[in-house]
Formats: sequence, structure tokens, C-alpha cells
Amino acid sequence: MSQIQERGSTHVYRVNKISKEEMESMVARCVYEHPPFCSAACPLKLDARAFLEAAAAGNFKKALQLYEKIAPFPLILSAGCEAPCEAKCRLNEIGDGVAIREVERAVARFGGASKLGGIFRSKKRKSTAVLGSGLFALLLAGELEKKAYPVTVLCEQDSYESFLRACAPFLEDEAFASELKRLKGKDIQFEFNCTLDAAFYTEKQGSFDVLCASDEVRTRLFPDLEPIPELMFCEAERIVTGRTDGVLGAAFGAKKAALTVDRLAQNLDPRNTRGQEGAVESQLYTERQKASPASP
Ligand code: SF4
Repeated sequence: MSQIQERGSTHVYRVNKISKEEMESMVARCVYEHPPFCSAACPLKLDARAFLEAAAAGNFKKALQLYEKIAPFPLILSAGCEAPCEAKCRLNEIGDGVAIREVERAVARFGGASKLGGIFRSKKRKSTAVLGSGLFALLLAGELEKKAYPVTVLCEQDSYESFLRACAPFLEDEAFASELKRLKGKDIQFEFNCTLDAAFYTEKQGSFDVLCASDEVRTRLFPDLEPIPELMFCEAERIVTGRTDGVLGAAFGAKKAALTVDRLAQNLDPRNTRGQEGAVESQLYTERQKASPASP
């Protein structure tokens, strides 16, 4: 404790002097800014509190806008996400937790027409291409379109329908029709009937600034290359790709891959300034005294 006396005054201030380390440890104890447990468990970082609040108020349009920030294809994500968020809901401790994924499904279905891709939005200069099909390829194309990159999908299928069917075979008819419409409305170019072999890859290397590929295409073209999972990147071939598991895994992989594309397009190391990716631990104080058990 040290004392400071103001000039011309008789008042003496007592000041606690603490080290930088002590101050940092005190600041780290503050949990005020920690995310709610459900959002913390979501690797895509849905603002679940705002999303559920909008849905509970009946404002599905706003809820869909929030959901589309993490899901370029909302009916696909909500149909297949493994929902690790639900197990973390603190309401599980007094009854049933919130069935977040069911709310997402309802919002994706009844939230109205989404804002279509920015055909009139100004585009970034660097061009990108995604080779192949599958969930990761589809979601990556969606993420790149969201980031305003000109993106072209080079696939073996002969139409939008067969491409989408190859990417999301689990979609029911109604959801398939909606996502097909959404896919066609996005500013994503397609080259169908491609032969995705080494000669084709070499030819396309000169046409695009950043090339991405499904893991299936990468394995076919470069069986000995191992992508770096945290970056979804093969450094030796400078190709954005990687293995993913499940719907949420593909969505998270696509997010990481889109960030890598972003860094490469700016001639930066893809390891640069990525921020905190994926699920995190939360210690947010959650008041449960006034909560009562409810059905999901
Ligand atoms: S259901 Fe999936 S996408 Fe939605 S908040 Fe949970 S983990 Fe995230």
C-alpha cells in the first residue's frame, strides 16, 4: 500500500500497488464476458441466447438471420448437427434442457425466404475454386460466397440436383427442394461433368488464386499428402482441404478452411491471426434459483 498526497491539498490517497501478473490474474477471474454454456459448446459459435430469444418471441425471421450467420444451408445443418450444445444446457440440472436443434429446424423451415446471395454485392478480387462434392465442399463454397469471394465449384455431377444429392443425401424431399432453391440463388458458379484428375487439377491451378478440394479428391490426387487439421491445408501443394466427420464436423471444417482461404488470398501465412476457433470452456455464472423445470 502506498500513499499519494495531492499538491495543495491535505487529502491523502492510499493506493494498492499490484504487479502486472496479479492484475492479469484478477482480470482473468471475471466471467462476465464468458459465453453461455450452449454457445461455448457450439464450434460454430451460434449466439444461442439471442437466437432462442428471437424464436421465443415468434420472430423467426430474425432468428433465421442469426442462424444463417453460422449456416449457409440452414436445413442441412439443423437436420444433421449432433448438437453438443444441448448436453451443456444448464436447465438439464433441474429438468430437461432446451432442444436447441429442434428450434433451429423450425426456424430454418418457417423463417421465410433468406436473404439471397449478394449478386449485387461487391466481390473480392481473388478467385477461388472448390473441387469435388460432399458436405465439406458444399459448405465451404457457401462460406466463401458469404465472405464475398468469387467461387466456382468444379464437380463430377451433371446438375445442381445431383450435386446436392451427393452432398446431403439425408435431406427429406421438402428440405431438399428448399436447399436446392437456396443453392441456385447463391452467387456460386458451377462447372458440371468435370473429370477431377491430375491433368484437370494442373489446368485449373493457373485459373484460380486459391484451390480447395474435398478430401476424396485430395486423396485421389495426392494420396501421400496429409492436411494440417487445424488449418484444413496441405502446405506442399498449397491446397485447402481436410478430413471431416459428421455434419457439424463438416460445417466447422468449412469455417476453418474458409479462414485459411482468406489468409492465403491476402498472401498471409494461414496460421496468422485466427483468433479462438471451435468450442470453448465457459464459467459464466448462471442463476438457476428462479428457473423451473420445463419440457424441452
Ligand atoms: S445445434 Fe449444432 S449448430 Fe446449433 S448451437 Fe448446437 S452445436 Fe451449434
